[in-house]
Amino acid sequence: MTSILETITSIIAPHSCFVCGDENNMLCKKCAAVAASLYKQNCFMCGLARSGYAACELCAPRSVLKSLYVLGLYAPPLDYLVGQLKYQGVRQFAADAAVALADITIPAKPAIVTYVPTSARRMRVRSYDQAALLAKHYAKHIGAPLIPLFERRGNQHQVGADRAARLAQAETMLQLRSVSAAKAIAGAHVYIVDDVYTTGASLGRCAALLDHFDPKQINGVVIARQMNNS
Ligand SMILES: [Zn+2]
Ligand SMILES: [Zn+2]
Repeated sequence: MTSILETITSIIAPHSCFVCGDENNMLCKKCAAVAASLYKQNCFMCGLARSGYAACELCAPRSVLKSLYVLGLYAPPLDYLVGQLKYQGVRQFAADAAVALADITIPAKPAIVTYVPTSARRMRVRSYDQAALLAKHYAKHIGAPLIPLFERRGNQHQVGADRAARLAQAETMLQLRSVSAAKAIAGAHVYIVDDVYTTGASLGRCAALLDHFDPKQINGVVIARQMNNS
């Protein structure tokens, strides 16, 4: 449990690496590289042994997402750090995670970065959208424009919802912000940023919405992947 005092202190005080204690980063470059090296870059759909974060040849025809870049599993230390970003107002981790994600991505040009927006209800509680913040830093690091392409209609949020409920919510809530903005992705490599990949419903929905606009390729970029057997 984090006390209010600890939370306030962590926002004001300079952060140190949660793993090794190195100063100035919540996750230093060295520990981020270790986390990335421990993650198995298998096919994100079926788990077939692979490298390079891409869907395998058998899954690729069924997936609009070409690759899913993941820093690590939703487990220590990333579950704690993502929690700090999402629920404790600690924005610093978005910057650190973006550097680490830029290191594992091989950005193809022309690239466009966008993100899966959080719910309006969460925005009101926390005053920022963690995925938008992450995407802003990530776009800067890979040298690509950030274009907000999606919006959520409705106020439900996904904590505690089961897989079927999440899929249904993601289907109906995520929409294109504007058709004219989406036209900018024609011929581009699109990187859709989100904090955590759980069922893949939100990213899948966003990718499907963009597929009609002739992108060269659509990829997902997330801090952590939650493995569930449901
Ligand atoms: Zn470290
Ligand atoms: Zn596969």
